[in-house]
Amino acid sequence: MKRRDVIRLASAAPVAGAIAGGLVPLQSVLGATVPKSLLKRDLIKELGLRTFINAAGTYTTMTASLMQDEVMEAINASSKEFIMLNEVQDKVGERIAKMVHSEAAMVTAGAFSALTLGMAGILTGTDPEKVKRLPHRLEEAGIKSEVILQKGHYDGYEHALANTGITLIPVETVEDVDRAVSERTASMHFLNCNALEGKIMHEEWVRLAKKHNLPATIDIAADVPPVENLWKYNDMGFSFVALSGGKAIRGPQSAGVLMGTRDIVEAARLNNSPNGVTIGRGMKVNKEEMLGMYAALDHYINQDHDKEWKMWEDRVAVIDEAVSHIDGVAVTVTVPPIANHSPKMNISWKKDKIGLTRKSLGEKLREGDPSIEVISWGKEDNSIDLTVFMLKPGQENIVAKRLQQELSRASS
Ligand SMILES: *Cc1c(COP(=O)(O)O)cnc(C)c1O
Repeated sequence: MKRRDVIRLASAAPVAGAIAGGLVPLQSVLGATVPKSLLKRDLIKELGLRTFINAAGTYTTMTASLMQDEVMEAINASSKEFIMLNEVQDKVGERIAKMVHSEAAMVTAGAFSALTLGMAGILTGTDPEKVKRLPHRLEEAGIKSEVILQKGHYDGYEHALANTGITLIPVETVEDVDRAVSERTASMHFLNCNALEGKIMHEEWVRLAKKHNLPATIDIAADVPPVENLWKYNDMGFSFVALSGGKAIRGPQSAGVLMGTRDIVEAARLNNSPNGVTIGRGMKVNKEEMLGMYAALDHYINQDHDKEWKMWEDRVAVIDEAVSHIDGVAVTVTVPPIANHSPKMNISWKKDKIGLTRKSLGEKLREGDPSIEVISWGKEDNSIDLTVFMLKPGQENIVAKRLQQELSRASS
């Protein structure tokens, strides 16, 4: 572009909004050098996408959570500059590690990726030959090949560990652990949200791992709030902790954090982009998400958590008030003890009083305007579940009104 064109373009920028508003076709005035970003486009409208009020929760398929403003500011600002990617990971990792009481940390492409990379780090250390070898024929290359996991801790996400080529060894009791440990054992993994489904709790798991000179690892993907969980398991002695960035923390949905010992995080990074063509090459995270993740954690840790909890309770009260007086309707509020620890409402109704099913009410809410998603899948019965922590301020009133309408309309 000639210097004159740049000046012309810069002076044109302030009026671009008015032009794009429909007065004059922008391209014909300024020529082909106009960046598309000057044209205000609404892609959601253009593509005919359905947006909805999320009264379900942090489900990946629903795009989970809305990023905090601070996150988008970090993303936008860093998108305008080049920075060496490893330098971003170094600095962001250092800051995050301090926040969560770990020796080291790195931003990953989600908790799943943190699990795979952390596991890979344990297996390979800093040996480049081992890094190249994953996920095949581990034993031939002198790589440990088994991970011990309690039977009650299988929920599917252990696939993240198995991606490195390891085999999972199920155990139930302390004696099982002692028997299962061999020269092939790489680590002992714990799924925090299933803690109550196992016979061995956190401290004992860590103690057992120490006894056998093995790293204990833990998946706490969806397990804030409470905020203290961000450092609790590092303080307890787990060698790595995997966290989701895009759930209650409201960082980038495609980001997460691996926190752990210096050795494991350093080795995990060797298995990840941009440090070679490795098992983690497809788990690329760019500077925007790294800085966005850092901004999200910083904001999350420093926010007023009591105030947030009170806001959730107020939202629950609004919805409860709108529907609980309807004949045949009952509302119960529970708080899941570990994962997605926030108020969850169950709204149920008597079959003979209200002609709706779980699925049909879910569909009516979805098809309304605005569209609302609740938890209406799973076993078909006369109730729906919902959470309020992903609502935008004020949306509880819309959810309350729509529920009241549909339940009243269907009552005999
Ligand atoms: C959500 C979740 C994951 C995956 O987290 P991502 O950040 O989506 O990769 C892993 N483990 C558990 C227990 C989860 O709830």
